[in-house]
Amino acid sequence: MDDLKYGIRDKRGNWAPSEPLEVAPFWTGKFSQIGRWLVGYVWPHNAIFMLVSLAYWYFILPDWTKMKELTWDWGLWLYAVNAAGIFVMYGSVEFFYYFKRIQGTRFKYNPNFPSDKPSDVFWFKSQNIDNFLRSFLISIPVWTLIEVFTLWCFANGYAHWVDPKDHWLWLAVLIFLVPAIHEVHFYCGHWLIHQGVLYKWIHSIHHNSINPSPWSSMSMHPVEAAIFFSEMMWHLLLPSAPFVAMFQLTSTAYGAIVGHIGFDKLELTDERAMNSQAYTHYMHHKYFEVNYGADGVVPLDKWFGTWHDGTKQADERMKERFRRKKERLNRRKATSTPAE
Ligand SMILES: [Zn+2]
Ligand SMILES: [Zn+2]
Repeated sequence: MDDLKYGIRDKRGNWAPSEPLEVAPFWTGKFSQIGRWLVGYVWPHNAIFMLVSLAYWYFILPDWTKMKELTWDWGLWLYAVNAAGIFVMYGSVEFFYYFKRIQGTRFKYNPNFPSDKPSDVFWFKSQNIDNFLRSFLISIPVWTLIEVFTLWCFANGYAHWVDPKDHWLWLAVLIFLVPAIHEVHFYCGHWLIHQGVLYKWIHSIHHNSINPSPWSSMSMHPVEAAIFFSEMMWHLLLPSAPFVAMFQLTSTAYGAIVGHIGFDKLELTDERAMNSQAYTHYMHHKYFEVNYGADGVVPLDKWFGTWHDGTKQADERMKERFRRKKERLNRRKATSTPAE
């Protein structure tokens, strides 16, 4: 496919889509677009996460009497499944698009591949090895711990578990709201770890990958991983059910890849491609202080002035904001330094 029909490539080789990013149409009064938006809301990403959740529910989770006790066997079993699932899903995108490079740099935002650019900020100077090890040694264990704890709470009655037979409509609404809960939780936690020392100590590890690939998705400090995956625990407080909590968790865990694919479209045939929806978060990795949230289902970035839709105007707004922030910091520095 000719990626220049869908976007532009600058002199340095960075590709950007020509269509601006849009938040959910009901926030901007574009009601005629709701049908198209709804299709994109369900297909393909959330449908895939739903299938993964069903697979966990029917084939992976131990029975409830077992989950009443905290024992190593079912914890390790869940770790093994989580690790295998991520290895297959993230690994196949990494293998075909970053190792085999079947699509070259078509639709790739950054023209470089991480493996071609060794850097001292990474373990073994390799973004791939660093990100891979952090995912499997830190983030997936933290994810599994939160999963085990939440399921143990459900099993022991420490949750507001409502019966699907009596409350099916509420649970259906809640399932539909899972991406919105994700966006609010992710935005708040993510914004928090961008502040001051929290950024320096915790979140800077994730941001070492300025040019992210799938393995970057879960390359996190353990505190960031705990904040990220604790989203599942809202279902201990809300009237909910464990299946909905599992859907929330799989959307978070398997969905982390979405912002880190690095390609705007994954080509399926010579004429057809799947939209990755990666551009919002790619810009976050590029510019740091924009797009803290996700796709604008709940457009907190727009409301708080940090939304970047990829246009020149948004770029100008961002630069102006950065300039004002620099001035503010300089002023503060000047007043806190005693005159000589
Ligand atoms: Zn990221
Ligand atoms: Zn960030």
